[in-house]
Amino acid sequence: MRMPEAPESRSLNFIEDIIEADRVTEKHGGRVLTRFPPEPNGYLHIGHAKSICLNFGLGLRYDGATNLRFDDTNPVKEDVEYVDSIREDVEWLGFKWVNEFFASDYFQQLYDYAEYLVQQGKAYVCDLSEAEIRDYRGNFHTPGKDSPYRNRTPGENLDLLRRMRAGEFADGARVLRARIDMQSGNMNLRDPLMYRIRRAHHHRTGDAWLIYPLYDYAHGVSDALEAITHSICTLEFEDHRPLYGWFLEQDAEGKFFRRPLPRQIEFARLNLTYTVMSKRRLLELVKEGHVQHWDDPRMPTICGLRRRGFTPASLRNFAERVGVAKRDSISDVGLLEFAIREDLEKSALRRMAVLRPLKVILTNMGEGEVFELEVANHPDTSHGTRKLQLTREIFIEREDFEEIPPKKWFRLAPGAEVRLKGACLIRCEEVIKDAMGQVVELRCAWDPASLGGDAPDGRKVKGTLHWVSAAHAVTAEMRLYDRLFTAENPMDIAEGGDWRDTLNPHSLEVLPGAKLEASLAAANTGDRFQFERLGYFCVDRDSQPGALVFNRTVALKDSWAKVGEKG
Ligand code: ATP
Ligand code: MG
Repeated sequence: MRMPEAPESRSLNFIEDIIEADRVTEKHGGRVLTRFPPEPNGYLHIGHAKSICLNFGLGLRYDGATNLRFDDTNPVKEDVEYVDSIREDVEWLGFKWVNEFFASDYFQQLYDYAEYLVQQGKAYVCDLSEAEIRDYRGNFHTPGKDSPYRNRTPGENLDLLRRMRAGEFADGARVLRARIDMQSGNMNLRDPLMYRIRRAHHHRTGDAWLIYPLYDYAHGVSDALEAITHSICTLEFEDHRPLYGWFLEQDAEGKFFRRPLPRQIEFARLNLTYTVMSKRRLLELVKEGHVQHWDDPRMPTICGLRRRGFTPASLRNFAERVGVAKRDSISDVGLLEFAIREDLEKSALRRMAVLRPLKVILTNMGEGEVFELEVANHPDTSHGTRKLQLTREIFIEREDFEEIPPKKWFRLAPGAEVRLKGACLIRCEEVIKDAMGQVVELRCAWDPASLGGDAPDGRKVKGTLHWVSAAHAVTAEMRLYDRLFTAENPMDIAEGGDWRDTLNPHSLEVLPGAKLEASLAAANTGDRFQFERLGYFCVDRDSQPGALVFNRTVALKDSWAKVGEKG
């Protein structure tokens, strides 16, 4: 995997180029106001994090500001639960919005401007059915045909629009359309819909409205009303830009907005390997029980990543590193893992934990004997030290022992000697098995002269194992995660296939009997550690005093990149 350039040293991206040029010409008097406009119909995902970091980042960089705007024009799928989660996620990422708005705040203005467009002969009420509208619109190769209702007089249209609003017509019976150009090469300009009739309860405006504006109309007007300077969206809206401009031009001619108008700028959305990103699909994962909830640590949602143990800084750095592109691509999920390792490497305290314990008796140590050891919390000694206890019974990792070791095996094996991290050297003298032939215990001799780490005679011992004292250990549940999908691009499926077929059946492994060093008994939800040799872990919200639960955020190395290496 190619490591991208460090954030500090990068050159300007194309959006920054545009903003800097606008500042030179004083287009908006040097002002920069961006907005983050989520539709509250689901929890935010890492793609939204990218957009949040971009919009808020530009606000900060140019001494400007950013609005949070809930794009709540579609009453059917929206919910307060999502509104609350969105606020929480943006704040957690470390950003503050200057203003919080809802597109529904503008329902009255949007309606008033629509009446104005009708009066100007720029919009009309159309009685064609949805299917007929599609049919009349034509396609890339065929120009559209005018609706038979296109030439209604402004007076007739105004009357019909008012009656649409008053509830005289059934849902879907009529729509309001902009009157632009049915022959346009750009399909979006072929008399796009502005309003439809929908008897749906809205989470904020209740039953006040029976007609709801469509995205393209509502979005630009919302931007202009807030005096947004740069309206950043993803590439699929590139073809909508002329429409965005058209609505704003008409309304500016009507003196509803002051110029200069906001400018729409598109960038490539974030896609990640082994991940699905759309809210609709994520909702399906939750509803169908493939994951537990939106905050399942395997989800690419911001709340899922938070629960998994990601830090806000790691997500911000990740967003910065993937950069801002003009063409769609798919980023390596390894980049996200790199970002969290990079952050936790600096900050997470080192601890010892054994995932799959194997008992080891140090036969030449007295029962009840306890050796206290002082060990560093971190390679950076400013993080201080802690105490560990070495006793006769300890646990090591089951996979650190092989009865018949392969070549270059530096870990424990019959007759082999290893170092216990921060403690001493031990040699394996006897292997105890149960009736099934399973190894259940090792008898080892320790070298008291090596207490603290090395042998005074200077003999070489290559392997170092993590371990915990059996008498002092606390038991915990460990949840290990793997990618949720086995396919690099789950949406790239063969005919007749289903993206769910690529779900990884082994994406969650629960180890209920892990053993941890005693100091971890006091760990609280959200605390993060590096467990020596195992990876970065954090305390899950399911954790209780006496019944600790940890999530593995990420392993120490990229286990997908390494080939056959054990060590
Ligand atoms: P989804 O398709 O996942 O539901 P959306 O685009 O419909 O996403 P919105 O709530 O409308 O979600 O998006 C809010 C903002 O986040 C928009 O400006 C949108 O462009 C941006 N955004 C959404 N997904 C991504 C992504 N994958 N990468 C970058 N920005 C994104
Ligand atoms: Mg959407």
